[in-house]
Amino acid sequence: MSTAPFAQYPALRPRRLRQSPALRRLVAETHLCADQLVLPLFARAGRKLRREIGAMPGVFQLSPDEVLREASRAHEAGVPAVLLFGLPERKDAKASGAYARNGIVQQTVRLLKKELPSLLVITDVCLCEYMSHGHCGIVQRDARGAKILNDPTLKLLAQTAASHAEAGADIVAPSDMMDGRVRAIRERLDREGFIDTPILSYAAKFASAFYGPFRDAAESAPQFGDRRSYQMDSANAREALREVALDLAEGADMVMVKPALACLDLIYRVKTEFGYPTAAYAVSAEYSMVKAAAARGWIDERAVTMESLLAMRRAGADILITYAATDVARWLKS
Ligand SMILES: [Zn+2]
Repeated sequence: MSTAPFAQYPALRPRRLRQSPALRRLVAETHLCADQLVLPLFARAGRKLRREIGAMPGVFQLSPDEVLREASRAHEAGVPAVLLFGLPERKDAKASGAYARNGIVQQTVRLLKKELPSLLVITDVCLCEYMSHGHCGIVQRDARGAKILNDPTLKLLAQTAASHAEAGADIVAPSDMMDGRVRAIRERLDREGFIDTPILSYAAKFASAFYGPFRDAAESAPQFGDRRSYQMDSANAREALREVALDLAEGADMVMVKPALACLDLIYRVKTEFGYPTAAYAVSAEYSMVKAAAARGWIDERAVTMESLLAMRRAGADILITYAATDVARWLKS
């Protein structure tokens, strides 16, 4: 589509269409709508537990009953989906809590699906919160140091995804960035009869400093080293497209780009190139920075949040994963 104007000034005056709110709304190319929002939630064992995360005001680690309360609030405001993370009571070297039949995510999914059947429950599928070392895969140590093993990790990820589906998860979302995980998960889900459970893959996930506050939220900081041997290098856009292509070829139904604001170019390219439902994850620091600046009166929280999400939509995101989802849904109504 050509964007070259047919007329020129003074016949063409773009300001004509900016004269009133109604006129601006009439010609708006992009819209925010509550249907696009996903609220991430952190579940941990207990009852009536709400532990606020220091760097994320308004975001809590919640016991399952409180997850239900938070999810109900979001759902009532119009948010159609939540993305669930789990904090287990115990961690070990094989992430047993990730695929335990009665693990924290599995329990919470059952509760949510029983009490709020119309809420879509997406589960984050990864091992880092459940591993004593905090990495997303199985670690092998030798004289040269530690290595994150790819292929043996796939089985545990697939087992985790299947256990979430068994608990009633509507969508599973692998975030580990191991090679071949989407295929392993698809095969396992199909084998166990969950042929209708979609996979939303964290396809282009960068090793980003914007995840900082999340590590406190999910208590998943690696005990040694970093995640650069599996998460992507922020320098690479073409590689991100290859990652997306691979995940789609392996059976991903939807793909995600993470983080969001720092990757608007990729959201655009992924949507343009592949045309699949594309999610943008506005990660923890994107939220924390807005909260911190707003608390000092430096920015308008609502306006900055809405403008950021609109930018993700303009780039091509269909699904917006944001810690501000409930607020945004309410703002959209007011
Ligand atoms: Zn992980």
